Amino acid sequence: MTVELDGGRGEGGGQILRTALALSILTRRPMRMHRIRAGRAKPGLRRQHLACVEAAARLSGARTVGASVGSQELAFEPGETTADAHLEIDIGSAGSTSLVVQTILLPAVLLGGARTFTVHGGTHNPMAPPFDFLDRVFVPHLRAMGADVELVLDRHGFATGGASQASHDDPSPHRGRLTVRVGGAGALRPIELLELGPIRRRRAVATIARLPTHVAERELGRVHDRLGFAREDCETLELSHPGTANVLTIEVEHASGWELVTAFGERGLRAELVADRACDEMAAFLGANVPVGEHLADQLLLPLALAGGGAFRCAPLSPHATTNIDTIRMFLDIQITVEERERERDAIVRVGQGW
Ligand code: AMP
Repeated sequence: MTVELDGGRGEGGGQILRTALALSILTRRPMRMHRIRAGRAKPGLRRQHLACVEAAARLSGARTVGASVGSQELAFEPGETTADAHLEIDIGSAGSTSLVVQTILLPAVLLGGARTFTVHGGTHNPMAPPFDFLDRVFVPHLRAMGADVELVLDRHGFATGGASQASHDDPSPHRGRLTVRVGGAGALRPIELLELGPIRRRRAVATIARLPTHVAERELGRVHDRLGFAREDCETLELSHPGTANVLTIEVEHASGWELVTAFGERGLRAELVADRACDEMAAFLGANVPVGEHLADQLLLPLALAGGGAFRCAPLSPHATTNIDTIRMFLDIQITVEERERERDAIVRVGQGW
């Protein structure tokens, strides 16, 4: 039976679409969505979302109606899963490649069989997981669940429009590329992430292109001063890239997993202030004493639901996470409970019976 979804519900962004596409493929239920991204300044499908629809359709031999830029309605009916071992997806702009991966990775893992995907577009975009987050936070948690996934950053690609949604559509001459290799596991096992525990490893990377080295040095100096990172935990990565770019990532490995925060350099914003944004976010994560950060919390819900169980502790849920729970419930009959604890200022999310 067709699943009818309101894409403007709750958070009202692209994640509703991506989760619905993945679940439509895996449950083999057609879906129809209206008011796509109604909660956004530029509603409807942008190139980036269209690339997600295209990737999902190619993976599942789906028929689509309404797959065009600006469309606020989409019908998606999965057909026969392709045996294509390789999919090449070109977003056609600096839109986020990692969000395309977010759409098709779990279906690919669970459909079984070996596949590779190459996605052309932005690899480091505001308001999306940067490549490094996929590679060193999300995918390691999937591996812990039994997935066989490898990611390669072939070439950095930066959105040109700063933090603006316009970057979804900007045709960029400096597009990046990532490659994903999936050895289909066919199944995922539950995981439990409840304690932060001691920090085992820390690392900060200041990436620059066409900027003086002191920009990276000042950012890393700030990470040292504010978070106490040792010099040997700090790294400068200088890219030969045609455009100007600056990204600072700060990551930690703890007893239950990994977290990584990102800040983007902007014209006119001092390097120290760029670093402060990332330091503030990492300090908030460490201060909250939970093992699952805000973005990972919304992204872990789908793999846990597909594994049939699991639990994690995080800060009180973001609108992205609560909306994702609602979308999952439209397709799967699975228990998801959220216990928000006022005194501890955290939340425990349990998926499936007995967790
Ligand atoms: P949407 O706004 O609906 O397109 O969804 C954005 C997705 O990107 C969500 O899954 C967020 O968790 C994820 N995301 C946004 N910013 C970051 C970040 N800095 N690090 C990791 N994931 C992010």
